[in-house]
Amino acid sequence: MLEDFVRPEIRALEAYVPGRSIEEIRQEYGIEKVIKMASNENPLGTSPLVQEVLARHAGEAFRYPAGGNPRLVKAIARYLGLPESRIAVGNGSDEIIDMIIRIMTTPGRDNIVCFEPCFSLYPIQSLINGVEVRREPLPSDFVFDFDKLYAHVDENTRLVFVTAPDNPSGYCPRPGEIRRLAEKLPGDCLLVVDEAYIHFAAEEGETEADWSLLRQKDVPVNVAFIRTFSKCYGLAGLRIGVGILPEFLAGYYWRARLPFSVNILAEEAAITALDDDVFRQETIETVRKGRKELSLALTEMGCTVYPSRANFLMFTPPAGHPALELYEALLRRGVIVRALKSYEMPQNIRVSVGSPEENKIFLKATREILGGGR
Ligand SMILES: *Cc1c(COP(=O)(O)O)cnc(C)c1O
Repeated sequence: MLEDFVRPEIRALEAYVPGRSIEEIRQEYGIEKVIKMASNENPLGTSPLVQEVLARHAGEAFRYPAGGNPRLVKAIARYLGLPESRIAVGNGSDEIIDMIIRIMTTPGRDNIVCFEPCFSLYPIQSLINGVEVRREPLPSDFVFDFDKLYAHVDENTRLVFVTAPDNPSGYCPRPGEIRRLAEKLPGDCLLVVDEAYIHFAAEEGETEADWSLLRQKDVPVNVAFIRTFSKCYGLAGLRIGVGILPEFLAGYYWRARLPFSVNILAEEAAITALDDDVFRQETIETVRKGRKELSLALTEMGCTVYPSRANFLMFTPPAGHPALELYEALLRRGVIVRALKSYEMPQNIRVSVGSPEENKIFLKATREILGGGR
């Protein structure tokens, strides 16, 4: 049978269950107004400046992008103050993560190390590529213990993944701690720091550099960074991810990746978004405010809210209100949040910080369902 020859790593995969869409919920429950606070997308939507640029460049859709996306690479290098030779761009940071795994690990021999739970792509792409995954369970407060993570590293560990701030908990380790882990790792092991949510880490009075190892001086050479245009820049649907890699790795990335994975409109949008300080600052302020407001209100309702430095909050509803029931009840009221069953945390919910109006709708619905709070 032909099907018997499907690679065992692929056969072992479970079918992907996508999150519920606004349209689906509208039809299923017959409600007009449905809001989605499930995927950590930008609460302000797409920047008006970017929308204008997309419209202006629509007529160029017939062209292939320039190989290697040189204009975008140059813009990112200038923005970060780093050499172009270290920058990789891809179809979402998903592509960058997958490529780092494929370039750096030999199936059947090497392993990767990460926490559990963590962003699901690191273990899934590793398993697809035939690479062993070693995981350190996080404690109940989701604070990283890098000594325990380090204990999983052996001579076949090629990659260690750390998410800062973390998804789904929102916890953010200090850059000094990440640096110490990097310095301790053997020279044949690369530390990959995923900074997808780093723009949201600083509270008022702090700067991005207080939380981002990438933004510090003398970063150890065995660290790669992942960033994305999907969150703070509001371009999740256009799929643009960034790798800040050791130079040798960036070189192999450009040889091995699919040739045109960042398309011509995505490239224009990203170049514009980098310069759009106003939109980025508004996004950060909206998230800071909303995060504080949601956290206070949920706590008042008796939920356990985990401290978050990202654009989402993870929480446990009060006793007597199972998270999955709350999730379903919110759906019936037209509010889509993320149940964390797939992260093996059926007791928790993750809610993305929305616009002020969305936050209000979410809190009102939750208050009704939980029946308490003031
Ligand atoms: C959202 C997210 C990303 C970004 O993924 P894209 O493919 O760039 O959209 C990366 N890492 C983490 C941990 C995320 O939550």
